[in-house]
Amino acid sequence: MRLSQYFLPVLKENPAEAQIVSHRLMLRAGMIKQSSAGIYSWLPLGYKVLRKVEEIVHQEQQRVGHIPMLMPTLQSADLWKESGRYDAYGPEMLRIRDRQDRDMLYGPTNEEMITDIFRSHVGSYKDLPLTLYHIQWKFRDEIRPRFGVMRGREFLMKDGYNFDLTKEDALHAYNRHLVSYLRTYERMGLQAIPMRADSGPIGGDDTHEFLVLAETGESEVFYDSEITDLTFGNREIDPSDNDACRAVLDEFTSRYARTDETHDPELFAKVPEDRQSTARGIEVGQIFYFGTKYSDAMNAKVQGPDGKQVPVHMGSHGIGVSRLLGAIIEASHDDKGIIWPEGVTPFHAGIVNLKQGDEEADAACDALYKSLKALGLDPLYDDRKGGAGMKFATMDLIGLPWRITVGPRGLKNGVVELTSRRTGESEELPPEQAVEKLA
Ligand code: ATP
Ligand code: MG
Ligand code: MG
Ligand code: MG
Repeated sequence: MRLSQYFLPVLKENPAEAQIVSHRLMLRAGMIKQSSAGIYSWLPLGYKVLRKVEEIVHQEQQRVGHIPMLMPTLQSADLWKESGRYDAYGPEMLRIRDRQDRDMLYGPTNEEMITDIFRSHVGSYKDLPLTLYHIQWKFRDEIRPRFGVMRGREFLMKDGYNFDLTKEDALHAYNRHLVSYLRTYERMGLQAIPMRADSGPIGGDDTHEFLVLAETGESEVFYDSEITDLTFGNREIDPSDNDACRAVLDEFTSRYARTDETHDPELFAKVPEDRQSTARGIEVGQIFYFGTKYSDAMNAKVQGPDGKQVPVHMGSHGIGVSRLLGAIIEASHDDKGIIWPEGVTPFHAGIVNLKQGDEEADAACDALYKSLKALGLDPLYDDRKGGAGMKFATMDLIGLPWRITVGPRGLKNGVVELTSRRTGESEELPPEQAVEKLA
């Protein structure tokens, strides 16, 4: 993309309404624009990162065999009346009436709708196990929308639902989700710690939240500091092997790690004192096993191997896709701007032309741009007429991992400058070598 032809409305001033760094940087980098409280337009740069995050979530869901689909944002209230949650959910649910006077709502989550789909089409244990998921906009009329996309009212969530014959199978699905979530977050450059949590309005017995440690997090967390040494890395775990999935769950959840909602000071006191840590965290996902809560209420049964009708065991599993952008920025920035992890960066590299209009500099930039494109990379070429300071500030703000700086002086010696956004280190090298380094 050539910056002169892009739409990147960066702000020079710090927006007064933004209290935390990720919100400030997303506004300043022209990623989002508030449309009303807690509701945002995703401008091209923000949209690009949102799609990358979404794509990683899709890939990791499908890697473990979960099936993508799409349910609508607007739901009929009938299903929610059946489950009993229409009244129970409270004022966070946006209720709408259509012209026929039917009660509708903007879905805050989809347990009812997916259970209805399931019961309409599945009748035998032979069709299990089954895990369906979608990535769709949700609406929750949060009492205090704030921090930009972190606590929006309209937000993008991946929510997945498993259907199993037995509790044991459903716990396998739970363990498998934990494994896939660990991988998902690491691919985004995040460490998200599974912590024992409270089930809230979803209900259920087993549940873990995934928290990214950050000063601006809304949850207070208590944990054994050993937990921060764990990484999932490049392990190959067979998703159909419950023992293997279970071993990962045991490894990642055997140490004390809880949010304020479930914190137990007596248990925490048993952690060696020098490892007792408290911090703040951002909830980027949650997994639930809730058994037959919805299948009982909504009569979602299958025929078991013995011919008897039994309610299915279910769980639901959410990832805060749009919130993740805020979490990634909270975890990865400096005073100049965002520092995108390679996995989610909107462009792979920026090309800065120090003397736009200079024949040689323009030609060198064009050649670099083409070579990077030919490698399948997505560069952003700042081809605007303007000073180096302004161009560097823009690149630093939007946080691309690499910057290639091209100017007449370097070109005389046959070199360009390659700079890492994260370390700030630069080296001069011939343009072909700069391209090779990025390949
Ligand atoms: P929170 O405790 O932050 O209100 P939640 O526990 O109500 O979140 P879940 O029902 O577990 O949310 O939804 C799954 C995921 O969706 C959450 O882990 C979070 O990452 C994301 N999410 C929830 N509410 C919001 C929101 N208002 N804005 C952005 N993302 C959200
Ligand atoms: Mg909530
Ligand atoms: Mg929560
Ligand atoms: Mg939650």
